[in-house]
Amino acid sequence: MTATISKIIWFAFGAAWFLIRLQPGRRARKTPVRYSARGAREFALLGASLTGLGIVPCLYLATHFPRFADYPVTPALSYLGIVVDVVCIWLFYRTHRDLGHNWSVSLDLRERHILVTTGIYATVRHPMYAGFWLMAVAQALLLPNWVAGPAGLVGFGILFFGRVWREEEMMISAFGDEYRAYMRRTARIVPWLY
Ligand code: SAH
Repeated sequence: MTATISKIIWFAFGAAWFLIRLQPGRRARKTPVRYSARGAREFALLGASLTGLGIVPCLYLATHFPRFADYPVTPALSYLGIVVDVVCIWLFYRTHRDLGHNWSVSLDLRERHILVTTGIYATVRHPMYAGFWLMAVAQALLLPNWVAGPAGLVGFGILFFGRVWREEEMMISAFGDEYRAYMRRTARIVPWLY
């Protein structure tokens, strides 16, 4: 395992994620929204996540910036990164399948929005965000650079902690006691723990 191979693997998983997102993205553009909590704040949070998970590592791949923060590849960490990314891609596939037309890239409620509590959503309320956390962990394991590697954890962390409670408030305002009961029997992202 060399640094170049590790970087190519990171990129390949990113491309797989992009392909999984294509069809839900197309459907989302056609599905009418009845309420949206988008705004400057959501825009900034999405920007932070995109910067950490996309722009900083792509810049690193393309230009090798910031070279001073490189460290030698540890093959075991890269292999672990592959395993984490495989779980991550599976989670994205499952969550998009289970959420269906209710999915949005931001905080939206669709017309005919239904509360999904089955499939992977029976155990955790935010399995897609769990997938993004795994994507960020895999990035840290696969990119041997102290800036580009952990950038995803920082960027997605900002989005997650800045958004998750607002999303839950939005779901409570839409589904009331049904969502409160759902919260009591599920964890946020780690089954039985958090
Ligand atoms: N937080 C979820 C979904 C992310 S997509 C996850 O991590 O899996 C964000 C959109 O999903 C939000 O706009 C919200 O309207 C919708 N959403 C979140 N949880 C939902 C659920 N259990 N059922 C239906 N829609 C949900």
